[in-house]
Amino acid sequence: MSEEQAREMGLVVVGAAGRMGQTLIRAIATIAGARVVGAVERAGSPDIGKDAGTLAGVGEIGVPITDDPLPVFARADGVLDFTTPAASIEFAGYAAQARIVHVIGTTGCSAADDAAIAAAARHATIVKSGNMSLGVNLLAVLVEQAAAALSADDFDIEILEMHHRNKVDAPSGTALLLGEAAAKGREIGLRDNSVRVRDGHTGARQTGSIGFATLRGGSVVGDHSVILAGTGERVTLSHHAEDRAIFARGAVKAALWARGKKPGLYSMRDVLGLA
Ligand code: NAD
Repeated sequence: MSEEQAREMGLVVVGAAGRMGQTLIRAIATIAGARVVGAVERAGSPDIGKDAGTLAGVGEIGVPITDDPLPVFARADGVLDFTTPAASIEFAGYAAQARIVHVIGTTGCSAADDAAIAAAARHATIVKSGNMSLGVNLLAVLVEQAAAALSADDFDIEILEMHHRNKVDAPSGTALLLGEAAAKGREIGLRDNSVRVRDGHTGARQTGSIGFATLRGGSVVGDHSVILAGTGERVTLSHHAEDRAIFARGAVKAALWARGKKPGLYSMRDVLGLA
Protein backbone atom coordinates (compact mmCIF):
# COMPACT_ATOMS: atom_id res chain seq x y z
CA MET A 1 0.00 0.00 0.00
CA SER A 2 1.42 3.42 -0.96
CA GLU A 3 1.84 6.16 1.64
CA GLU A 4 -1.01 8.05 -0.09
CA GLN A 5 -3.38 5.09 0.23
CA ALA A 6 -2.45 4.52 3.88
CA ARG A 7 -3.91 7.97 4.62
CA GLU A 8 -7.71 8.26 4.92
CA MET A 9 -9.25 9.57 1.69
CA GLY A 10 -10.76 13.03 2.21
CA LEU A 11 -14.04 13.34 0.31
CA VAL A 12 -16.23 16.28 -0.64
CA VAL A 13 -19.94 15.55 -1.00
CA VAL A 14 -21.60 17.93 -3.46
CA GLY A 15 -25.38 18.20 -3.32
CA ALA A 16 -24.88 17.42 0.39
CA ALA A 17 -28.45 18.29 1.38
CA GLY A 18 -30.08 16.10 -1.29
CA ARG A 19 -31.45 12.57 -0.88
CA MET A 20 -28.22 10.95 -2.10
CA GLY A 21 -25.99 13.63 -0.52
CA GLN A 22 -27.31 12.90 2.97
CA THR A 23 -27.12 9.14 2.31
CA LEU A 24 -23.45 9.59 1.30
CA ILE A 25 -22.64 11.47 4.52
CA ARG A 26 -24.22 8.63 6.53
CA ALA A 27 -22.39 5.94 4.48
CA ILE A 28 -18.95 7.56 4.82
CA ALA A 29 -19.41 7.57 8.61
CA THR A 30 -19.50 3.73 8.50
CA ILE A 31 -16.63 3.14 6.01
CA ALA A 32 -13.00 2.81 7.10
CA GLY A 33 -10.48 4.69 4.96
CA ALA A 34 -12.69 7.64 4.02
CA ARG A 35 -13.89 10.79 5.76
CA VAL A 36 -15.90 13.88 4.83
CA VAL A 37 -13.74 17.00 4.42
CA GLY A 38 -16.25 19.19 2.62
CA ALA A 39 -19.94 19.54 1.79
CA VAL A 40 -21.28 21.73 -1.01
CA GLU A 41 -24.78 22.89 -1.95
CA ARG A 42 -26.14 25.23 -4.61
CA ALA A 43 -26.07 28.96 -3.89
CA GLY A 44 -29.30 29.97 -2.20
CA SER A 45 -29.90 26.58 -0.58
CA PRO A 46 -31.51 26.99 2.88
CA ASP A 47 -28.99 24.44 4.22
CA ILE A 48 -25.83 26.58 3.66
CA GLY A 49 -23.95 26.92 6.96
CA LYS A 50 -25.56 23.86 8.58
CA ASP A 51 -23.30 21.00 9.69
CA ALA A 52 -23.45 18.22 7.04
CA GLY A 53 -23.44 15.43 9.66
CA THR A 54 -26.18 17.01 11.75
CA LEU A 55 -28.36 17.46 8.64
CA ALA A 56 -27.80 13.80 7.63
CA GLY A 57 -28.65 12.58 11.13
CA VAL A 58 -25.22 11.22 12.17
CA GLY A 59 -24.34 14.00 14.60
CA GLU A 60 -22.00 16.96 14.15
CA ILE A 61 -18.89 16.22 12.02
CA GLY A 62 -17.46 19.76 11.92
CA VAL A 63 -18.13 20.19 8.19
CA PRO A 64 -20.39 23.18 7.42
CA ILE A 65 -22.23 23.10 4.08
CA THR A 66 -20.86 25.79 1.74
CA ASP A 67 -21.77 27.15 -1.70
CA ASP A 68 -18.09 27.78 -2.61
CA PRO A 69 -16.59 24.53 -4.01
CA LEU A 70 -13.04 25.72 -4.80
CA PRO A 71 -11.55 25.95 -1.26
CA VAL A 72 -12.96 22.54 -0.26
CA PHE A 73 -11.88 20.85 -3.51
CA ALA A 74 -8.34 22.17 -2.83
CA ARG A 75 -8.05 20.15 0.39
CA ALA A 76 -9.81 16.96 -0.82
CA ASP A 77 -8.73 13.72 -2.51
CA GLY A 78 -12.08 13.08 -4.18
CA VAL A 79 -15.60 14.35 -4.90
CA LEU A 80 -18.85 12.38 -4.69
CA ASP A 81 -21.41 13.97 -6.97
CA PHE A 82 -25.12 13.12 -7.22
CA THR A 83 -26.54 16.47 -8.34
CA THR A 84 -27.69 17.71 -11.77
CA PRO A 85 -26.01 17.44 -15.20
CA ALA A 86 -25.12 21.18 -15.28
CA ALA A 87 -23.61 21.02 -11.79
CA SER A 88 -21.66 17.81 -12.53
CA ILE A 89 -20.06 19.39 -15.62
CA GLU A 90 -18.99 22.40 -13.55
CA PHE A 91 -17.58 20.12 -10.82
CA ALA A 92 -15.72 17.99 -13.41
CA GLY A 93 -13.76 21.10 -14.42
CA TYR A 94 -12.87 21.97 -10.81
CA ALA A 95 -11.95 18.34 -9.98
CA ALA A 96 -9.68 18.19 -13.05
CA GLN A 97 -7.96 21.44 -11.98
CA ALA A 98 -7.49 20.13 -8.44
CA ARG A 99 -6.36 16.72 -9.85
CA ILE A 100 -8.71 14.79 -7.59
CA VAL A 101 -11.01 11.82 -8.19
CA HIS A 102 -14.55 12.64 -9.35
CA VAL A 103 -17.30 10.04 -8.84
CA ILE A 104 -20.42 11.02 -10.81
CA GLY A 105 -23.76 9.37 -10.09
CA THR A 106 -25.84 12.14 -11.66
CA THR A 107 -28.25 10.89 -14.34
CA GLY A 108 -30.16 12.60 -17.16
CA CYS A 109 -27.01 13.77 -18.98
CA SER A 110 -27.44 14.67 -22.67
CA ALA A 111 -24.95 13.54 -25.34
CA ALA A 112 -23.34 17.01 -25.11
CA ASP A 113 -23.08 16.70 -21.30
CA ASP A 114 -21.43 13.28 -21.67
CA ALA A 115 -18.98 14.73 -24.22
CA ALA A 116 -18.01 17.50 -21.75
CA ILE A 117 -17.42 14.91 -19.01
CA ALA A 118 -15.33 12.75 -21.37
CA ALA A 119 -13.24 15.85 -22.20
CA ALA A 120 -12.64 16.52 -18.48
CA ALA A 121 -11.57 12.87 -18.09
CA ARG A 122 -8.52 13.58 -20.25
CA HIS A 123 -7.07 15.30 -17.15
CA ALA A 124 -9.15 13.83 -14.32
CA THR A 125 -9.87 10.38 -12.95
CA ILE A 126 -13.66 10.09 -13.29
CA VAL A 127 -15.90 7.16 -12.40
CA LYS A 128 -19.40 7.68 -13.85
CA SER A 129 -22.29 5.26 -13.66
CA GLY A 130 -26.07 5.49 -13.81
CA ASN A 131 -26.13 2.97 -10.99
CA MET A 132 -23.46 2.39 -8.36
CA SER A 133 -24.86 -0.83 -6.86
CA LEU A 134 -23.22 -4.23 -7.16
CA GLY A 135 -26.56 -5.86 -7.98
CA VAL A 136 -27.40 -3.67 -10.98
CA ASN A 137 -23.91 -3.92 -12.43
CA LEU A 138 -24.08 -7.71 -12.19
CA LEU A 139 -27.56 -7.54 -13.75
CA ALA A 140 -26.07 -5.59 -16.68
CA VAL A 141 -23.62 -8.44 -17.32
CA LEU A 142 -26.50 -10.95 -17.27
CA VAL A 143 -28.60 -8.77 -19.59
CA GLU A 144 -25.73 -8.54 -22.08
CA GLN A 145 -25.40 -12.35 -22.07
CA ALA A 146 -29.16 -12.91 -22.39
CA ALA A 147 -29.47 -10.40 -25.24
CA ALA A 148 -26.64 -12.14 -27.11
CA ALA A 149 -28.04 -15.65 -26.52
CA LEU A 150 -31.67 -14.87 -27.41
CA SER A 151 -31.78 -13.48 -30.95
CA ALA A 152 -33.69 -10.37 -32.03
CA ASP A 153 -35.78 -12.45 -34.44
CA ASP A 154 -37.15 -14.52 -31.56
CA PHE A 155 -37.05 -12.25 -28.47
CA ASP A 156 -38.15 -8.63 -28.01
CA ILE A 157 -36.44 -6.63 -25.25
CA GLU A 158 -38.44 -4.23 -23.06
CA ILE A 159 -37.10 -2.36 -20.02
CA LEU A 160 -39.54 -1.35 -17.28
CA GLU A 161 -38.59 0.96 -14.40
CA MET A 162 -40.32 2.57 -11.43
CA HIS A 163 -39.01 5.36 -9.17
CA HIS A 164 -40.32 7.73 -6.48
CA ARG A 165 -42.52 10.69 -7.38
CA ASN A 166 -39.70 13.28 -7.16
CA LYS A 167 -37.40 11.82 -9.82
CA VAL A 168 -36.88 14.40 -12.59
CA ASP A 169 -35.38 12.42 -15.52
CA ALA A 170 -36.73 9.51 -17.58
CA PRO A 171 -35.91 6.82 -18.52
CA SER A 172 -33.73 6.36 -15.42
CA GLY A 173 -29.94 6.22 -15.73
CA THR A 174 -30.16 2.59 -14.70
CA ALA A 175 -32.73 1.76 -17.39
CA LEU A 176 -30.39 3.32 -19.97
CA LEU A 177 -27.40 1.44 -18.51
CA LEU A 178 -29.37 -1.82 -18.87
CA GLY A 179 -30.42 -0.79 -22.38
CA GLU A 180 -26.76 -0.20 -23.29
CA ALA A 181 -25.94 -3.69 -21.97
CA ALA A 182 -28.72 -5.25 -24.07
CA ALA A 183 -27.60 -3.30 -27.15
CA LYS A 184 -24.00 -4.42 -26.60
CA GLY A 185 -25.17 -8.06 -26.39
CA ARG A 186 -27.05 -7.59 -29.69
CA GLU A 187 -24.09 -5.67 -31.24
CA ILE A 188 -26.26 -2.66 -32.09
CA GLY A 189 -26.25 1.00 -31.00
CA LEU A 190 -28.88 1.89 -28.38
CA ARG A 191 -29.48 5.44 -29.62
CA ASP A 192 -30.67 4.29 -33.08
CA ASN A 193 -32.62 1.27 -31.87
CA SER A 194 -34.51 2.42 -28.78
CA VAL A 195 -38.18 3.31 -28.35
CA ARG A 196 -38.32 5.62 -25.33
CA VAL A 197 -42.09 6.32 -25.32
CA ARG A 198 -45.20 4.94 -27.02
CA ASP A 199 -48.47 6.79 -27.46
CA GLY A 200 -51.40 6.55 -29.88
CA HIS A 201 -51.45 4.41 -33.03
CA THR A 202 -47.83 3.27 -33.00
CA GLY A 203 -48.05 0.37 -35.45
CA ALA A 204 -46.53 -3.04 -34.76
CA ARG A 205 -43.30 -3.39 -32.83
CA GLN A 206 -40.12 -3.09 -34.90
CA THR A 207 -37.94 -6.22 -34.74
CA GLY A 208 -34.70 -5.61 -32.84
CA SER A 209 -35.79 -2.41 -31.09
CA ILE A 210 -35.31 -1.98 -27.34
CA GLY A 211 -38.35 -0.48 -25.62
CA PHE A 212 -38.56 1.55 -22.41
CA ALA A 213 -41.49 2.12 -20.06
CA THR A 214 -41.42 4.50 -17.10
CA LEU A 215 -43.53 4.48 -13.92
CA ARG A 216 -43.34 7.21 -11.23
CA GLY A 217 -44.92 7.26 -7.78
CA GLY A 218 -44.60 7.12 -4.01
CA SER A 219 -41.23 6.48 -2.42
CA VAL A 220 -39.86 3.69 -4.65
CA VAL A 221 -36.01 3.79 -4.50
CA GLY A 222 -35.62 2.01 -7.87
CA ASP A 223 -37.17 -1.06 -9.52
CA HIS A 224 -35.93 -2.33 -12.91
CA SER A 225 -36.96 -5.29 -15.04
CA VAL A 226 -35.54 -6.33 -18.39
CA ILE A 227 -38.09 -8.50 -20.16
CA LEU A 228 -37.07 -10.73 -23.07
CA ALA A 229 -40.37 -11.67 -24.66
CA GLY A 230 -40.49 -14.55 -27.13
CA THR A 231 -43.37 -16.46 -28.67
CA GLY A 232 -44.78 -18.62 -25.88
CA GLU A 233 -42.15 -17.75 -23.24
CA ARG A 234 -40.71 -14.78 -21.41
CA VAL A 235 -37.48 -14.26 -19.44
CA THR A 236 -37.46 -11.44 -16.84
CA LEU A 237 -34.28 -10.19 -15.15
CA SER A 238 -35.00 -7.81 -12.26
CA HIS A 239 -33.40 -5.69 -9.55
CA HIS A 240 -35.14 -3.98 -6.65
CA ALA A 241 -33.26 -1.28 -4.71
CA GLU A 242 -34.66 -1.01 -1.19
CA ASP A 243 -32.21 1.49 0.29
CA ARG A 244 -30.16 4.34 -1.26
CA ALA A 245 -27.25 3.21 0.92
CA ILE A 246 -26.32 0.64 -1.78
CA PHE A 247 -25.57 3.50 -4.22
CA ALA A 248 -23.69 5.50 -1.58
CA ARG A 249 -21.49 2.59 -0.51
CA GLY A 250 -20.77 1.87 -4.20
CA ALA A 251 -19.77 5.51 -4.77
CA VAL A 252 -17.32 5.47 -1.83
CA LYS A 253 -15.91 2.16 -3.06
CA ALA A 254 -15.44 3.76 -6.51
CA ALA A 255 -13.57 6.73 -5.00
CA LEU A 256 -11.23 4.47 -3.00
CA TRP A 257 -10.62 2.33 -6.12
CA ALA A 258 -9.92 5.35 -8.35
CA ARG A 259 -7.39 6.93 -6.00
CA GLY A 260 -4.00 6.94 -7.73
CA LYS A 261 -5.44 5.64 -11.06
CA LYS A 262 -4.38 7.50 -14.19
CA PRO A 263 -6.82 10.03 -15.71
CA GLY A 264 -9.68 8.52 -17.70
CA LEU A 265 -13.39 7.78 -17.69
CA TYR A 266 -14.12 4.60 -15.73
CA SER A 267 -17.40 2.82 -15.00
CA MET A 268 -18.70 0.90 -12.02
CA ARG A 269 -18.09 -2.29 -13.99
CA ASP A 270 -14.37 -1.42 -13.94
CA VAL A 271 -14.54 -0.80 -10.18
CA LEU A 272 -16.29 -4.10 -9.52
CA GLY A 273 -14.10 -6.12 -11.89
CA LEU A 274 -17.10 -6.95 -14.10
CA ALA A 275 -15.87 -5.17 -17.26
P1 NAD B 1 -31.95 15.50 -4.91
O1 NAD B 1 -32.70 16.52 -5.70
O2 NAD B 1 -32.53 15.01 -3.61
O3 NAD B 1 -30.46 16.04 -4.59
C1 NAD B 1 -29.67 16.77 -5.49
C2 NAD B 1 -28.98 17.86 -4.69
O4 NAD B 1 -28.03 18.53 -5.53
C3 NAD B 1 -29.98 18.94 -4.18
O5 NAD B 1 -29.82 19.10 -2.77
C4 NAD B 1 -29.55 20.18 -4.96
O6 NAD B 1 -29.74 21.39 -4.22
C5 NAD B 1 -28.08 19.90 -5.19
N1 NAD B 1 -27.49 20.72 -6.26
C6 NAD B 1 -28.03 21.07 -7.45
N2 NAD B 1 -27.20 21.88 -8.12
C7 NAD B 1 -26.10 22.06 -7.34
C8 NAD B 1 -24.91 22.80 -7.48
N3 NAD B 1 -24.65 23.54 -8.58
N4 NAD B 1 -24.01 22.77 -6.47
C9 NAD B 1 -24.23 22.02 -5.36
N5 NAD B 1 -25.36 21.30 -5.17
C10 NAD B 1 -26.29 21.32 -6.16
O7 NAD B 1 -31.72 14.28 -5.90
P2 NAD B 1 -31.23 12.78 -5.56
O8 NAD B 1 -32.40 11.88 -5.46
O9 NAD B 1 -30.23 12.83 -4.45
O10 NAD B 1 -30.51 12.42 -6.94
C11 NAD B 1 -29.44 13.18 -7.45
C12 NAD B 1 -28.97 12.59 -8.77
O11 NAD B 1 -28.39 11.30 -8.52
C13 NAD B 1 -30.08 12.34 -9.80
O12 NAD B 1 -29.57 12.58 -11.08
C14 NAD B 1 -30.40 10.86 -9.62
O13 NAD B 1 -30.99 10.27 -10.74
C15 NAD B 1 -29.02 10.32 -9.37
N6 NAD B 1 -28.94 9.02 -8.71
C16 NAD B 1 -27.98 8.15 -9.17
C17 NAD B 1 -27.77 6.95 -8.56
C18 NAD B 1 -26.64 6.06 -9.03
O14 NAD B 1 -26.41 4.99 -8.45
N7 NAD B 1 -25.90 6.49 -10.05
C19 NAD B 1 -28.57 6.56 -7.47
C20 NAD B 1 -29.55 7.45 -7.01
C21 NAD B 1 -29.72 8.70 -7.62
